[in-house]
Amino acid sequence: VRCRAGGGLALAAALLALAAQAAPWTVALQPLGDSIGDQDVAAVSQALKAMYGLEVRVLPRTPLPPEAWYAPRSRYRAERLLHFLAGRRPPDTARILGLTAEDISTTKGDVYDWGVLGLGDLDGPAGVLSLFRCKKGARSAAHARERLAKVAVHELGHALGLAHCPHSGCLMRDAEGKVSSTDEENDFCAACRIQLRAHGWALPDNPALPWSAHPAP
Ligand SMILES: [Zn+2]
Ligand SMILES: [Zn+2]
Repeated sequence: VRCRAGGGLALAAALLALAAQAAPWTVALQPLGDSIGDQDVAAVSQALKAMYGLEVRVLPRTPLPPEAWYAPRSRYRAERLLHFLAGRRPPDTARILGLTAEDISTTKGDVYDWGVLGLGDLDGPAGVLSLFRCKKGARSAAHARERLAKVAVHELGHALGLAHCPHSGCLMRDAEGKVSSTDEENDFCAACRIQLRAHGWALPDNPALPWSAHPAP
């Protein structure tokens, strides 16, 4: 009897684990302003679905908030955008990501206003990313779009609790301001994948990589 009960419990636990893995979770995408194109939003959506196995809800386009404008450098402060975005996250979505083509910046070390590809709060409700720096040295609009999609995967990783990763080729590497580094990144490394799972985020083991083929790290 004990053995049967144990077996039953193990089976129940296995079924619960399966249900948790299969439960869909949703990320909201918020296009900010008119300069970010529908194709860019679609590329980000496709990459997030492929890499995280999640659902994406694209919210109606909204203007960039004027309180985030940083006049001395004519760009938008990313942390103010994160604050704005956090207030717009639909309660049934896990996180919200804002997309813009305007340049965005934040404080990095001694530099008050440093231009960035994106910013995500560690284990926070929101991330934000910009196409602006993805275009630098890009071969085509499609290449810039692919970079943007990789930045989206990176910033959502932060929002889901991942810090920067030292493994070469891992999407969680610190770009350190150079967009070209995203061209060398194609997948999560094994350590980041394990960490995401430990945080409770189910994600596919071997995603069909949504960009031009390169070996996984
Ligand atoms: Zn980062
Ligand atoms: Zn990694």
